[in-house]
Amino acid sequence: MDIAARLEAVRARIAEAAAAHGRDADDITLVAVSKTQPTARLTEALEAGQRDFGENYLQDAIAKIEQLGAHAPVWHFIGDIQSNKTRDIAAHFAWAHAVDRFKIARRLSEQRPSGLAPLDLCIQVNVDDEASKSGVAPAATAELAAQIATLDNVRLRGLMTIPAPAEGLAAQRRPFARLRELRDALNADGFALDTLSMGMSADLEAAVAEGATHVRVGTAVFGPRTR
Ligand SMILES: *Cc1c(COP(=O)(O)O)cnc(C)c1O
Repeated sequence: MDIAARLEAVRARIAEAAAAHGRDADDITLVAVSKTQPTARLTEALEAGQRDFGENYLQDAIAKIEQLGAHAPVWHFIGDIQSNKTRDIAAHFAWAHAVDRFKIARRLSEQRPSGLAPLDLCIQVNVDDEASKSGVAPAATAELAAQIATLDNVRLRGLMTIPAPAEGLAAQRRPFARLRELRDALNADGFALDTLSMGMSADLEAAVAEGATHVRVGTAVFGPRTR
């Protein structure tokens, strides 16, 4: 299958899941995760109407951004962020999805070039109690959100999660429901978070069912990764 056909199939999955849960598919942004893909594959996706791209390998990503233009596509940095990467992320991306420390958010804000709109951020939350992955604990999220809200050149948009793989819709929905409930609780406390970045190739229906506004989809758009 070529990329245009794969994209169409993914958009159809999103539309069907949205319709099944009384949601408008236009409220769900498909972030095509193009990590490891050569620029020509991104061009193919662009020509098929794709606008949002997600990357996690910074040097690779910057080369593609320089080739394709920083502004036409919307670039999302979806990987873990170390301090030595913040300057390049602040300069090249519109979004960072995996912020889990105040120090990183502060550096992104300080290093955001003044000619650009504020960098949109999500806090990565570890909603699986047992897993020891990156992301803040649910109970620590409000404090980090309050700290980020004090920064000038970043805008806290919402929450992101990468749950442990699970089989079946009901099991897949559980962690996404937790992220949505956490977002709703923060909004009840005075935040105005409009974003839930959740769902990948294997579980995007479950994420859409629970209110995802951004699904990050790689394999289903570009085919299996070779690295
Ligand atoms: C690679 C990646 C994805 C996409 O995963 P697929 O299973 O290929 O859809 C989504 N989010 C993050 C953070 C990733 O690293």
